[in-house]
Amino acid sequence: MVRWEVECPTYEVVGALSRFDERDNVFSRERLEPGSIEERAYHVAHPELVKIDRRIRAFIDAVNSPEESNSQVDAALYKAGFGPVVGLALPDVVDGEVAPTQVQVDPAGMAARIKALALHLGADDVRVGPLNPAWIYSHRGTPPFFAGYRSNPPHFDGLPQGYRDLAWGDPVEVPHRYAISMAFAQDRDLLGTGGTPFSDLEVGRVYALGAMVATQLAAYIRALGWPARAHHLRNYGVLVVPVAVDAGLGELGRCGYLMHPWLGTNLRLACVTTDLPLALDPPVDLGFQDFCANCLKCATACPSGAIPTGEKVVVRGVRRWQIDPVKCLLYWSHLGSACTICQTVCPLSRPRTPLNRLLARVAFRLPAVRRFLVRLDDWVYGRDFRPAPPPAWAG
Ligand code: SF4
Ligand code: SF4
Repeated sequence: MVRWEVECPTYEVVGALSRFDERDNVFSRERLEPGSIEERAYHVAHPELVKIDRRIRAFIDAVNSPEESNSQVDAALYKAGFGPVVGLALPDVVDGEVAPTQVQVDPAGMAARIKALALHLGADDVRVGPLNPAWIYSHRGTPPFFAGYRSNPPHFDGLPQGYRDLAWGDPVEVPHRYAISMAFAQDRDLLGTGGTPFSDLEVGRVYALGAMVATQLAAYIRALGWPARAHHLRNYGVLVVPVAVDAGLGELGRCGYLMHPWLGTNLRLACVTTDLPLALDPPVDLGFQDFCANCLKCATACPSGAIPTGEKVVVRGVRRWQIDPVKCLLYWSHLGSACTICQTVCPLSRPRTPLNRLLARVAFRLPAVRRFLVRLDDWVYGRDFRPAPPPAWAG
């Protein structure tokens, strides 16, 4: 795959960048246990969010209480996909001791080795970029490490014995210079069932794979005598999408996901931050900003209206499309599953057939062709979301 490497990423910085507080993330807020110290502290500071946070919590209640909305058989798939990955979230798993002897490395050779290892372990693509401090969370906001946590399923209730890392509300520091960003492809057929226990299973499976590879890669680097920390679904210290954009893994799309040159938006991300000397990859301009400006397919297909049909807005110093995460999560609550419609309908997420690869290459080069490709995608795959059937093994 030819990449269009450029000096600056395609998001537009228009003001001072500021760090995002993980406590404000809807996935942190939905997990606030009513009446807990964290919930009371958060809602004293944000009384305007009390009502809406009660509503978004319904998603967690649904996946944990199958009798309320899902069948036990369906909920079992969610728990299979998302449950065990929390075991990879412990501080001593994402990070840990660094070998006392430091292996001296050639940055270009080591970057090649790291990429080969990541691909071997299960990543579908990997690039190395600088770690911009603006993409580090300002404060820890995600459980599982507080009392009453009972999500996916309740492996930890309160801080585990011997826990010596960040608790909810603590400032986050990630003192590394580089980030190794990895993309993991999802199965199109399962994802295309769109907000079902089968798409949940696939999303959880791929997040778990990303978590495993990131923790393995970080352990490898620490054994070489260099600090390294894995960032994955259940323990992020950084915003993985802009970190991946800076490494040239793709561009930020209208739907808020990374858009990758051959996986489109059909992927999940994980990364490792480190001080291991590595040759850096530049960002890319694949024409996706123009493609998204002319496409809007995810926005029109989104059942909750969470994806904007209009212009970009300025978010913490960056001009970008901004989805409404509350609308999105409320729809998930309604389904009782994570919705995957925007990733499924994206014309760039189509199967990697020789014809599709050729068309994508032409679209990268020729802006005039992009509009035609959007229409062609509508014609071949339809404008609206068409759910795929459940897998045969589901009986
Ligand atoms: S996941 Fe579903 S509800 Fe959320 S933004 Fe995508 S299409 Fe909309
Ligand atoms: S569906 Fe269209 S507008 Fe949405 S992310 Fe994909 S290319 Fe961009």
